[in-house]
Amino acid sequence: MQIVLTQPRGFCAGVTRAIEIVERAIELHGTPVYVFHEIVHNPWVVDDLRLRGAVFVNDLAEVPTDAVLVFSAHGVSNAVVAQADRLGLLTIDATCPLVSKVHLQAQRFVRQGHTLLMIGHAGHEEVVGTMGRVDAPVHLVSVVADVAHLDVPAHTPLAYVTQTTLSLDDTREIIAALKARFPRIVGPEVDGICYATQNRQIAVRRLAAQVDLVLVVGARNSSNSNRLREVAERCGVPAHLVQDEHDLKAEWLLGAPRVGVTAGASTPEVLVQRVVDALQSHTAGERLPIVHLAGAREDVSFRLPPGLTAPNTAALAHG
Ligand code: SF4
Repeated sequence: MQIVLTQPRGFCAGVTRAIEIVERAIELHGTPVYVFHEIVHNPWVVDDLRLRGAVFVNDLAEVPTDAVLVFSAHGVSNAVVAQADRLGLLTIDATCPLVSKVHLQAQRFVRQGHTLLMIGHAGHEEVVGTMGRVDAPVHLVSVVADVAHLDVPAHTPLAYVTQTTLSLDDTREIIAALKARFPRIVGPEVDGICYATQNRQIAVRRLAAQVDLVLVVGARNSSNSNRLREVAERCGVPAHLVQDEHDLKAEWLLGAPRVGVTAGASTPEVLVQRVVDALQSHTAGERLPIVHLAGAREDVSFRLPPGLTAPNTAALAHG
């Protein structure tokens, strides 16, 4: 048996930044620091921050007046920002800058008079946040079949934006269907699917070509981790999403001499190592060889919000 690890895998720049924002907020303001939604979609990360004084809420009514509130990496709607303002909360925005870019693009399209379509998954926090960033109705397109059912009058100027963590293949097909039905539709100049999603999907495709089984370490509610599993499966290889080593099933390993392992953008490396260790323990004593597949080098990093880089917190948005 052999273990093959992809590169890149695990944390992206937006996730690293969001976690650091919560850590810095706790250092600067003390506990508790409230976080609207899971800061990133990974229960290990959330539990770790909870132990250090973060309180995760899904409803701002649970946040006391004058508390410190962090918006998660997925971004929030205008309504949530306004509600936090009304409650007098000290807000810190951990929205990934690449998600914020999609917000700005969506607002630009609406200002230009376009009716907006969002390509994304219903109910995902990022999608809810982006759709709620414009003061106009937004049509959601999740699968190719949705395109035929779009109820928009002929000659309506249309534009689309995408969720950052979609499947490259699915999105390409949806955009092709949109262009076939609405030839004048416009989209962003630069693809909205982020660099981390693209790199991890390209890497898992390469991995799938070389192994008998793919394990994606990631949370069940992590969009980009789910897409990695789908991409691997479409390559014709059995692929499973595992949150950690406890999700591994011995029967998956039967007849799979080469096991590929990757991880979603919100998965800490410690969980990958725990899965690798669990795979090692399946063999009788001998250490399995680990092959590291080369892949795209990532040197992206995002600055923290100004108020968090200095001890002076005056630059934080109050309200
Ligand atoms: Fe930002 Fe992409 Fe990471 Fe999401 S997956 S936090 S958009 S870099």
